[in-house]
Amino acid sequence: MGRVVLGVAVGVAVAACAVAAVMVGKRVRSGNKWRRVVGLLRELEEACETTVGRLRQVVDAMAVEMHAGLASEGGSKLKMLLTFVDNLPTGCEKGTYYALDLGGTNFRVLRVQLGGENSSIVDQDVQRQRIPQHLMTGTSEDLFDFIALSLLQFIERKENGSEQSKQMRELGFTFSFPMKQTSVSSGILIKWTKGFAIENMVGQEVAGCLQQALARRGLNMRVTALVNDTVGTLALGHYYDADTVAAVIIGTGTNACYLERIDAIIKCQGHLTTSGGMVVNMEWGNFWSSHLPRTSYDIELDAGSPNPNDQGFEKMISGMYLGDFVRRVILKMSQETDVFGPISSKLLEPFTLSTPSVAAMHEDDSPELTEVERILKHDLEIQDVSLKVRKLVLKICDVVTRRAARLAAAGIVGILKKIGRDGSGGIAGGRRSDINIRRTVVAIEGSLYAEYAMFREYLHEALNEILGEDIAQHVVLRLTEDGPGIGAALLAASQSTLRVDSVQQS
Ligand code: ADP
Ligand code: MG
Repeated sequence: MGRVVLGVAVGVAVAACAVAAVMVGKRVRSGNKWRRVVGLLRELEEACETTVGRLRQVVDAMAVEMHAGLASEGGSKLKMLLTFVDNLPTGCEKGTYYALDLGGTNFRVLRVQLGGENSSIVDQDVQRQRIPQHLMTGTSEDLFDFIALSLLQFIERKENGSEQSKQMRELGFTFSFPMKQTSVSSGILIKWTKGFAIENMVGQEVAGCLQQALARRGLNMRVTALVNDTVGTLALGHYYDADTVAAVIIGTGTNACYLERIDAIIKCQGHLTTSGGMVVNMEWGNFWSSHLPRTSYDIELDAGSPNPNDQGFEKMISGMYLGDFVRRVILKMSQETDVFGPISSKLLEPFTLSTPSVAAMHEDDSPELTEVERILKHDLEIQDVSLKVRKLVLKICDVVTRRAARLAAAGIVGILKKIGRDGSGGIAGGRRSDINIRRTVVAIEGSLYAEYAMFREYLHEALNEILGEDIAQHVVLRLTEDGPGIGAALLAASQSTLRVDSVQQS
């Protein structure tokens, strides 16, 4: 009996040792896995590093590229497109104007009633709708028919068949893709961005396409202002505040425009404007510099995009891409360890994680990170991850968003440097804090900036770091919602060839 007990006791002890050995082995292996994941996170952080020194290099590169793009066609990756907008709205515009805003994710139809003084917008109606996916890659006729029909239905609802509807009206059209403008109301599409790809449109006159579609619907309207969303935003910013000199969009894509002296636009020599200036659409999404902190994820994201080697700055900053960048990091970690469990098919699929989901995870302040858990489950079919792994995901969102926002800030300071509003002596000068700096307003629009508080905070923080408090206090970033559309209506008003009081006033 005693021997049996001893035998059982020894057997139990051996089994216990074996179990313990397996447990320890597992822990070691999971410890290794966790170290690998942390290693990948550290690599990501290092590769995304945006020290003030590096951001200042990006600022300088932006200012240099701006010069090059203004000097000659094709002189830089920055197209620095002429807009022929030489006068910005002043606040005295009067009448009722319509506008269309075709930008990316959403399409907007607007009607704006302008009071005629003190920058007063008496009334405004905005109708938003998503652009059906199939129209983004179909034919130009289908796209413009959809736009014209939406406008027709909107006008019918607003005007209810009144006499006014028979009068000729002037329309502002915001078309946020690179165009070679030939006047303030005409331009040729250079290329599509942001997921649009309608083959027969590139090289065509954009206002003409819309004009034909309006005629097919029997609409008596003329496109008098064809503008980019940045230009619309600058127009609205300037309508409210005459110190507004630049506008930046941070939404599906990213871009900027600013008011330049006409004599600094070398490539449009001989062109005179009454104001002595012209708005330049930078198309900064295509900016590139070796100083940008590029990671292996950027390279893969670019290679898998419909437009490789294009829009490099945009792909590091804008809403179309941030979600997919985060997905790629999680995928890499899943491939190298099993901390996320088995690799789900959703995780392998591009663009399954959206930027609003990244924002929601990043801003999850619940103790258990329940929103992170929900989104991982819902968007990526990643189940049952520990709190430690949820914290890791939150950190990835932070690193990616912080880099994006800080690069956008560097871009803005690049513009300020180019126009001598950054407190330095211009492109050749060193930094000076004794300089008498003017108040400078930059209008900003786009849901990534408007809706994502952490993005905004990081952007503002970087702006202060780069400029220094003394200079930064003179720079105002002003959220200018619906700027692209309302601004186009304002430009239609300021470009109006009709007698404002008799014809346009409602
Ligand atoms: P568009 O640029 O198409 O004119 P928006 O300015 O509304 O339209 O930007 C839409 C983009 O903004 C979306 O692609 C999305 O990535 C991003 N976005 C929208 N809402 C949020 C949010 N809450 N947080 C972060 N990003 C957002
Ligand atoms: Mg937009």
